[in-house]
Amino acid sequence: MSILVVGTVAFDSIQTPFGKAERCIGGSATYFSLAASFFTAVDLIAVVGEDFTEEEMAVFRGRRIDTRGLQRVSGARTFYWSGEYGYDLNVARTRDTQLNVFADFRPQLDPAQRNTDVLFLANIHPELQMDVLHQTKRPRLVALDTMNLWIDTRRAALEKAFSEVDLVVINEAETRQFSGEANLVRAARAILALGPKTLVVKRGEYGVLMITGEAAFAVPAYPLENVFDPTGAGDTFAGGFLGYLTSRNDHSESELRRAIIFGSVLASFAVEKFSVDRLREITIADIHERYRAFRRLTHFEDFEAIDS
Ligand code: AMP
Repeated sequence: MSILVVGTVAFDSIQTPFGKAERCIGGSATYFSLAASFFTAVDLIAVVGEDFTEEEMAVFRGRRIDTRGLQRVSGARTFYWSGEYGYDLNVARTRDTQLNVFADFRPQLDPAQRNTDVLFLANIHPELQMDVLHQTKRPRLVALDTMNLWIDTRRAALEKAFSEVDLVVINEAETRQFSGEANLVRAARAILALGPKTLVVKRGEYGVLMITGEAAFAVPAYPLENVFDPTGAGDTFAGGFLGYLTSRNDHSESELRRAIIFGSVLASFAVEKFSVDRLREITIADIHERYRAFRRLTHFEDFEAIDS
């Protein structure tokens, strides 16, 4: 089983109340691939410029990440995002987005990539997401993420994209923004009405809400004392969530719930250091240990009815 992802491989400049990092490695597909590769093989489809050297490429090496679909364009520059956070780390403010090599990236999937079992359309413009989806031979699971920039600038294409996928992973503010609905459950229903069976709403430090049909599942974020940089938490969550699901070949309610916890566990590591630094250090044993701590955190027993 393997998962194909298309999204950004980027340089990010980030400022948080705890420090800043200039031109560090980022990108939606980067965080996703690192997280998913703990559970399954990943095929990465993206593009970088000449400024993304072998030194940066080392981030993908020694892991189950196939980078044959990561093109390098000479004489061009890598996608660049600059953002900042105030004390409310749930809100990122974009200072600058430069698409650079992504402006006219049209990848050609090879036959093995077209036959992928699972496809993740990580955050990037919806036309590119659809271009990749339409080259595949109907994977058993297609999931998509997006962000406010594309809701503002590519609304129609995004609606079409929502209608063609099984699962949408999106953050809370963007769920409200897309639907124009303040109540989160109603806002979620408005997206589900377009076609996806499952919606996973990322709520930053408040955790995750998953809605499938009439059923819902909610967990808090793992409580951490040190959160340095929330960048990539959402993509890392998606990588843990879909990486685990891909490895199980089973989308039952209980596996979906385990996947939500693995996603939350991976995201909790990502925010402990800047960029992908923490994801590069951890092992699968660290992930299993935090999964068990998460279970203790959220477990509670049924009550005995008291006769009054
Ligand atoms: P998040 O998980 O939402 O914090 O994603 C952060 C990552 O998304 C950063 O590493 C950025 O490089 C990347 N990013 C920011 N803006 C965009 C965009 N408009 N399209 C695709 N990727 C983006």
